[in-house]
Amino acid sequence: MRHVLKLLPFVKPYWQKSVLSLVLLVIVVVLDLAIPRLVQHIIDQGILAGDMEEVWHTFLLMLAISVASTLFAIGNNNFSVQVGEGVARDLREALFLKVQSFSYGNLDRLKTGQLMVRLSSDSGAMLRVVQVSLRIGTRATLLMVGSIALMFITDRHLALVVVPLLLLTSGIIVYFITRMRPLFLTMQQKLDRLNTILQENISGVRVVKAFVRADHEAARFESANEDFTERNIRVVEFLSTMGPALSACINVGIVVVIWAGGVQAMHGEVTIGQIVAFVNYLQTAIGPLMIMTMLANVWAAGIVSAERLNEVLDTVPQVQDAPGAPPLPASARPRVVFEKVGFHYHDSNETIVLEDIDLVAEPGQTVAILGATGAGKSTLVNLIPRFYDPTAGRILIDGQDLRQIQQDSLLDHIGVVPQETVLFSGTVRDNIRYGRPTAGDEEVVAAARAAQAHDFVLELPQGYDTRVEERGVNLSGGQKQRLAIARALLTRPAILILDDSTSAVDVETETKIQEALEAWMEGRTCFVVAQRISTVLKADKIVVIDKGRLAAEGTHRELLQSSPIYQEIYASQLGPGPNGG
Ligand code: ADP
Repeated sequence: MRHVLKLLPFVKPYWQKSVLSLVLLVIVVVLDLAIPRLVQHIIDQGILAGDMEEVWHTFLLMLAISVASTLFAIGNNNFSVQVGEGVARDLREALFLKVQSFSYGNLDRLKTGQLMVRLSSDSGAMLRVVQVSLRIGTRATLLMVGSIALMFITDRHLALVVVPLLLLTSGIIVYFITRMRPLFLTMQQKLDRLNTILQENISGVRVVKAFVRADHEAARFESANEDFTERNIRVVEFLSTMGPALSACINVGIVVVIWAGGVQAMHGEVTIGQIVAFVNYLQTAIGPLMIMTMLANVWAAGIVSAERLNEVLDTVPQVQDAPGAPPLPASARPRVVFEKVGFHYHDSNETIVLEDIDLVAEPGQTVAILGATGAGKSTLVNLIPRFYDPTAGRILIDGQDLRQIQQDSLLDHIGVVPQETVLFSGTVRDNIRYGRPTAGDEEVVAAARAAQAHDFVLELPQGYDTRVEERGVNLSGGQKQRLAIARALLTRPAILILDDSTSAVDVETETKIQEALEAWMEGRTCFVVAQRISTVLKADKIVVIDKGRLAAEGTHRELLQSSPIYQEIYASQLGPGPNGG
């Protein structure tokens, strides 16, 4: 409940519509509750009294009330839909903006699939909570309370006769709700599992095909699907026993009322009209109880969803600007210094990923980072744009601790080409211009030339105006990487980080890219993560990372003479032997 209440501020902008919707609802309920009263009147004063005029008058009044009630109900409906949809839209927007503010560390914890589910289905669950609260839920509650009150007003003795029955009915409802909650929660979990498998398989369908695992995945999906269906059936079966139980209560109630009422009527204590009205109120009191049990579902789902939404909304970005942190001056010629830097990811059980790294990149230098997979190379370069903060030591740019600089201004100085290329839907030009939408066409072409992308772009059907399809499926891996490099170059960063970003490019093209970069990066500082030693030969400085530690540092020549680990890498890639050549 606490979690649902925490989301209440989202309703605030719509408070007028919410109040209006509730006012209309109250009117609808009052009108609905007036009908049995008029039935009583039409019987006692009209039919039994033989007064046809009274029958007609009352009939017309009932007709008018029914029409008015319908109109007000439509109004209530419209307002509650507007509030519900508005709240859901605002929630989605807040979640979206929140996710944009996340640091890499936050994103590691909340997985893509989970975030998608939260954005779509959890905000949908809140939409239903809002609508139910403004509509059927409140209506049912008011109808029930009103009917019980009116039963007492109609005839206190008869009302007292049905009290035990109402208590029994409430007992049944409480039993159903308490039994249903756990059932419902497991159903929700099964649905989550089904969604996860679905999401993994749809996004990974190519891998599934490549490894001929379709049967395995189908079996996995089938089992989750079956599980969910079975749960669903159990819930529905359970719920369906409730209907007959409550109907039985109503029927017993009617019999009791007619019997007790009949006895009273013989003594002239109640009229036939009163008995009929009473039976009507009994029905309108127990009917909503049934509805409310169904709505318990919506609420149970809403509470679970609210909790998950709050988890996202309450997440604090791990990397934040220090209060009053100044921007990095635009004139910076960055000298990047790592001082005793250590790092571990939060989720990796405190396993040390980087330890005691001391490293200096002078302005204009290209520093190459070499090492086995998993050595910590990407982690090291991810610390420079503050995708993560070091857990020990510090990193300085021009003598300033990164944590004391505005992150946005830091990022303005850094161009990153990540390991995995991400292209957005749009044209090739849009993608290159992503980091600097104001760049002119000549600049786009110049950046594309430097990244060795210009030639292949011209060969595309519409050149720079060719649309990049979803995930860039109409481009090869190497082409995508070159577009990503052009995108980074176009921002003219003072620091360029290439994280294994020529891995899918052939050696010849890679050499061309490097040559072009040399001119382009004049006076700028460059970090190149590489697997291939051919990539790093010309770097001003090569550092070898081994199991998170800096194992060797120097130029190619120096390392070839002094570092056994470098010699080993060199021999395995370029020297004689099975891989050589
Ligand atoms: P490299 O770039 O040298 O291949 P990484 O820097 O990617 O190595 O990874 C270094 C270590 O950190 C590996 O053991 C890897 O499993 C772990 N690691 C990388 N990214 C994460 C992450 N987001 N969360 C937890 N552990 C990670």
